[in-house]
Amino acid sequence: MVQKGIKIALAGNPNSGKTTLFNKLTGSHQHIGNWPGVTIEKKEGSIKGRKDLIVQDLPGIYSLSPYTPEEEISRGYLLNENPDVILNIVDSSNLERNLYLTTQLLELGVPVVVALNFIDIARRDGDKIDSKKLESLLGCSVIETSALKGEGVDACVERCILAANGEDPHYERDKIRTSFSAPVENALREIETLIGKTAKERHRWLAVKAFERDEKALAGIPLAPSRKKQIAEIIDRCEKDLDDDSESIITAERYTAIKAITETSIERAKRQDNLSKSDRIDKIVTHRFWAYPIFIVIMAAVYYIAISLGINTQDMVDGWFGDGLIPLVQGWLENAGAAEWLTGLVCDGIIGGVGAVLSFVPQMIILFVLLGIMEDIGYMARIAFILDRLFRRFGLSGKSFIPMLIGTGCSVPGIMASRTIENQRDRRMTIINTPMIPCGAKLPIIALVAGAVFGGAWWVAPLAYFLGFFAVIVSGIILKKTKMFRGDPSPFVMELPSYHIPAVGNVARSTWERSWSFIKRAGTIILLSSIVLWFLLHFAVIDGRLTMIEDEMIADSIAAKVGTVLGFIFAPLGFGGWQGSLATVTGLIAKEEVISTFGVIFRIEDALGLVEEGHYEGVAAIAQHFTKLSAFSFMMFNLFCPPCFAAMGAIKREMNSVKWTWFAIGYLFVFAYILSFIVYQIGVLFTGAAFTVLSGVAVILLTGSLYLLFRKQSEKTTLS
Ligand code: GDP
Ligand code: MG
Repeated sequence: MVQKGIKIALAGNPNSGKTTLFNKLTGSHQHIGNWPGVTIEKKEGSIKGRKDLIVQDLPGIYSLSPYTPEEEISRGYLLNENPDVILNIVDSSNLERNLYLTTQLLELGVPVVVALNFIDIARRDGDKIDSKKLESLLGCSVIETSALKGEGVDACVERCILAANGEDPHYERDKIRTSFSAPVENALREIETLIGKTAKERHRWLAVKAFERDEKALAGIPLAPSRKKQIAEIIDRCEKDLDDDSESIITAERYTAIKAITETSIERAKRQDNLSKSDRIDKIVTHRFWAYPIFIVIMAAVYYIAISLGINTQDMVDGWFGDGLIPLVQGWLENAGAAEWLTGLVCDGIIGGVGAVLSFVPQMIILFVLLGIMEDIGYMARIAFILDRLFRRFGLSGKSFIPMLIGTGCSVPGIMASRTIENQRDRRMTIINTPMIPCGAKLPIIALVAGAVFGGAWWVAPLAYFLGFFAVIVSGIILKKTKMFRGDPSPFVMELPSYHIPAVGNVARSTWERSWSFIKRAGTIILLSSIVLWFLLHFAVIDGRLTMIEDEMIADSIAAKVGTVLGFIFAPLGFGGWQGSLATVTGLIAKEEVISTFGVIFRIEDALGLVEEGHYEGVAAIAQHFTKLSAFSFMMFNLFCPPCFAAMGAIKREMNSVKWTWFAIGYLFVFAYILSFIVYQIGVLFTGAAFTVLSGVAVILLTGSLYLLFRKQSEKTTLS
């Protein structure tokens, strides 16, 4: 045998057992990265003990159409990276749907080996799958596997090596697995001859893609305009004949062909009520009525565990740093005679900054374990299924619910929970909108405004939450109508995988990967930002010299100077003084800092504690700084403006793109600004102020926003 490296591409539907098989194949030798520009994880590894056999794990997909980023990546890899063999893992309990991808893979002209996974479940349920028959119908090797139990894994490797070397006795390159109806086959044959000369391989694949009018698939093939025209005429004719669009024709006929394959090769065990176990569970779990109480109970449990336990662990870690490590290091540095600024920088800037990041980690781990379990069991797909109809109207996916719910506790894990949303547009939108939900740290701001400014009015806090959800919906609708987020023209197929017992290894691995990458990446951003802001808050330019100042002199700090400049920006929102601006800026460290900063400015000892315990008379000085309207505007701006550095770090981590991170931050700023602007400027009119230029601008902004909200979706209508 030739000793050259063999590239094995691992492809399959989501939940078919790809990750499990990949881990079995590679042991622990895996490299996890990201596909350039997207958040989809890229895994590559070599087969245990065989450095020359490289396995590339591709994103889970249902088809090779270029609609979702997952499909585009997988297809791009298969077409351009020349794998030697495709190991296609299929879920034998859902063979019909899985073969939809398999038949497309087989058209590519690359050797395919099919791993018939979940065979243990099929046997347990008494289903009879004739894998020999399947082998001859598909024209490729079919190996029965149980990735979970490790069965058939070695056989897959052996067969892949044979197939890669062109020695697989079962692989028939040019076999037509799915023969379509006569008009389609005729059209395909004609198209094939038209493009045939230029493309030596993949005749059938290209012909089918051309028939589907898949421009991207043909991009690399030089075709004379006259031929293109001929092809278009062939397609038009066929569409007229069959009275459907070409893509739908192929989809429907492919399923018919697959049905013929499965009918002769599978015999499903008779079940009392003809339902699999999963279907029986789903009868209750996705029931028209019961779905909701069950959902509420499960989410309440997740929320309770993640948030309540999470907040406690956060306090605990904060305690280790604030009461333990910081005083200790401070003592050392002071004893060693270190300069005051150095002590401050190390203790408050660096250790404080790192502590702020690390305090999120325990609750993130708790959350990811819970999410991992829900994902692995298969309940996450049900959540999307139950909530999709509601959320989709607002341009969000049903799975956006979890990030937002978690976001009421803290945006950081909320944003990271968006990982479970496969669709890239939906995921980005969820990441952008999640920070608008008031997190736990924004509560003191709401409490200050409700308690000290509005004299304890009961309705302010609920209104703040209502506004949060309202903002998410408005923002979702507006974004969805823009080109960037416009709905996906491909039909939305809701996949409900069978329920599984979660595998400890899977959950542990995904939790570790997610948490560690957060610590690594977000840690650097937060650390750097905290140091810079610490510096700005603790230094002043006095007599032309940079001097370190005491907390009480915060009004002289560089940050306060910056606040004065920013004051011009915030003036139209009603809080133009440097105080409000500075508090808003320090809110970037953590939203609690907003109140603490006011405390420092107005010399109130422990302002945050006073607010949290409801002693509003103690913070009257802060309240006097505002009018009711300007306080409300201030609260709104702080609820919706870009989140703290930790959350920004999470956004960067999840967007995995500098451009998108800045887009999210910029968007949140503009959104918050316009909303507060409209509320404040139109509000002052009601207090009897004269109509000014700013009022005019507010009216224009309001009209513009309403237009963006209610305009008809232009051009292509989309399925939603
Ligand atoms: P992926 O989405 O394709 O990566 O699928 P995973 O590898 O995450 O598997 C989904 C679930 O199916 C996990 O809970 C696995 O433990 C389970 N699983 C995977 N392969 C098998 C198998 O052959 N038999 C059984 N019983 N469970 C499996
Ligand atoms: Mg996986």
